[in-house]
Parts: sequence; C-alpha cells; structure tokens
Amino acid sequence: ALSIGIVGLPNVGKSTLFNALNGGGAEAANYPFCTIDPNVGIVPVPDKRIDALSAIVNPQAVQHAIVEFVDIAGLVAGAASGEGLGNKFLANIRECAAIAHVVRCFDDENVTHVAGKIDPLSDIEIIDTELMLKDMDGIQKGLVRIEKLARTGDKDAKAQVEVFKKVSQGLEDGIPVRRQGLSSDDMDKVKGLCLLTAKPVLYVTNVDDASLPDGNAYVEQVRAFAAEEGAGVAVVSAQIEAELVEMDEESQTEFLADLGLSEPGLNTVIREAYTLLDLISYFTAGVKEVRAWTIHRGDTAPKAAAVIHNDFEKGFIRAETIAFEDFVSFGGEAKSKEAGKMRLEGKDYVVKDGDVMHFRFNV
Ligand code: GDP
Repeated sequence: ALSIGIVGLPNVGKSTLFNALNGGGAEAANYPFCTIDPNVGIVPVPDKRIDALSAIVNPQAVQHAIVEFVDIAGLVAGAASGEGLGNKFLANIRECAAIAHVVRCFDDENVTHVAGKIDPLSDIEIIDTELMLKDMDGIQKGLVRIEKLARTGDKDAKAQVEVFKKVSQGLEDGIPVRRQGLSSDDMDKVKGLCLLTAKPVLYVTNVDDASLPDGNAYVEQVRAFAAEEGAGVAVVSAQIEAELVEMDEESQTEFLADLGLSEPGLNTVIREAYTLLDLISYFTAGVKEVRAWTIHRGDTAPKAAAVIHNDFEKGFIRAETIAFEDFVSFGGEAKSKEAGKMRLEGKDYVVKDGDVMHFRFNV
C-alpha cells in the first residue's frame, strides 16, 4: 500500500492529526495483513465512485484503496545523531513513498511552540536539517561501498561516486536532495540509498478554524516555499479533524457546512498525496467485491493487474475495460457490453483513472 510518513516538530499537531486519521480508519480491522502497529494508521481513500459502483453491483464487500500513514514521532533536533527514539523512527521513513510534513500555522498562546514563536519556514528548516544529516550519513556509508567497487575499474560505480559526492556537497550546503535540481539519471543513481530528503513532500499546514478552508498568512509562506520544489500543500485543522471523527455522519455534514467545508480536511490530505505522487485508481466490480486499486498514471494494463496479483501480470492476456462513466450511465457490465462500451485492451493499454477492469490471464 501507499505509505506516507508524518514528520514535524513536537507540538505542531501531529498526534492530533494522526489519531483523527486513525479514527476515520476504523475499518482498519478489515485489513488483517497489516500488523497492528500503534505508529501505523490505515486510512481508506475517500472515493464517491465506489458508492456509485456498489449501488449498481450490490456487492458482498466493498474495499476502498488504502493509504498507510506512519507516525514518525520522536523526530526532534538531534534525532539524526541517534539519540533517543529518533533513529529508530527515521528508519521507518525510508520505506515511505512520500512525507507529510505537518507545520504549525496557528496562533495559540496555550500551546507551547518548541522554538518559542510561530515561524513555519524555520520549523521546516529544523526538520529538514535533521533529515539532511541522516542523508549525509547514508551517503557516506554508500560511498565506502561504491568507492571500493570503483577502484576495481567498474565504470558505473565511478559515475555513481561522482553523483554521491555532488549530492553530499549539496547537503553540506544545506540543500535537501529534492531541491538540488538533479537529473532523473542522477536521481536513479542515488535511488538505492532511499534518501529522506529526496522523497516528495506534502506540507500539511495545521490552522485554526477561522483560517479554513483557504489558509492564512503562514500558509502563504508555506505555499511559496512548496512551489519552489513542486511540493503539495494541504490546509487542515487537526483539532477540527479530531472533533469530526467523533461525530456521526449527519452531525459531520452540518459541522462541515458551518465551517464552509464540503469535506473533511483529511480527504484533502489524501487527495493531495495522490496528486503529488501521480497516482490514480482503477476498479474491479464483481458481486463478491467492489474494490479500488492504486496505480501510477501511465501504468499499462499488465502492471495494473500486478497490483492484484503477480500472476495476473505474468499470464496477462487482455483486460475487459469499461470507463467508469459508461459503467454508471449504462447501469453495469452487461448493459455496457450491449451498448458496445466494453473494450478488450491488450498489454500496451495505458490504464485510465476510473477504468472498471476485468483481467483475463493464463495460469
Ligand atoms: P505533536 O507533538 O505534533 O504530536 O502535537 P499534538 O498533536 O500533541 O498537539 C500539541 C498540542 O497542540 C495539543 O495540546 C493539541 O491539542 C494542540 N493542537 C493540535 N492541533 C491544534 C489546532 O489545530 N489548533 C489548536 N489551537 N491547537 C491544536
């Protein structure tokens, strides 16, 4: 599953947000393959299209796509040097596809700020510094290995050494890898190191309710900063989210409307993460189960099939494909087929967002 690591300074609202995510993910028990880890929250990806499909198919079960949020608590100044819990948690972020960086963008005298004043960009810098220290460490270790190989005359290793050194210099100059303007070739060469500051970032600005839905002056600073690196920005109020998960659906709707919101902020966080990582969903819609699957935009049909099972990719023959809109407007698979809306797509077909698919494969 798509995994996102939550980082941020202490007291910016990480736990509040994480608990809200978890509360919303009460269905987590439906995902037994996920070990019960207090630091991991399994969150269903909100998608109204699943309701539309279910209304037609009337399946026994419904499965949303899921996102795993990993709470990287304990990330404080000094974490990279391995003091306290920080080091262990930093290891957890390595596995994550992206980082959600929670930034305090609310004034509240009752909530202490570790640095003494509200300053989102300085907060971001503190966390980035820790992550960069960790990355320097990783590169140095990688260098030892790769330089040995380079000395044997290995050309690829030599080229890699150059890139490692360049990236390391950039870090020493205080520039996170994602901001170093590396070519995709260079990025490939450091990929194996799982550098933390190479990961795409979604800044989650935690605001007071008066600043919803558009943000405030603090958020504007973060937006400008994020734009420089092509990062995403989501505006939420952790406190509001925490209140929302305690309510039934009716009260939620009312509460959201009062705030001028059409949906919980957590939905925005997940959607922004999808956009940031260029992810889309396709569906399988049978009587047993209607289910959403997450793939990368540009993935071909066999690659998409592999998300369900590796055998589906290996033995791929073709995919019976119906666009979501057709499936809904014609009222299901049989009627879509009658209307000539079912396409038989081959192995080069690039799956579109919302495709309803049925794979034919050899075992
Ligand atoms: P963490 O250390 O980053 O996990 O921060 P917490 O989630 O524990 O929050 C720190 C404090 O800030 C707690 O007292 C929260 O109640 C408070 N807090 C969190 N989010 C908000 C918010 O959106 N607005 C306000 N005013 N307080 C918040």
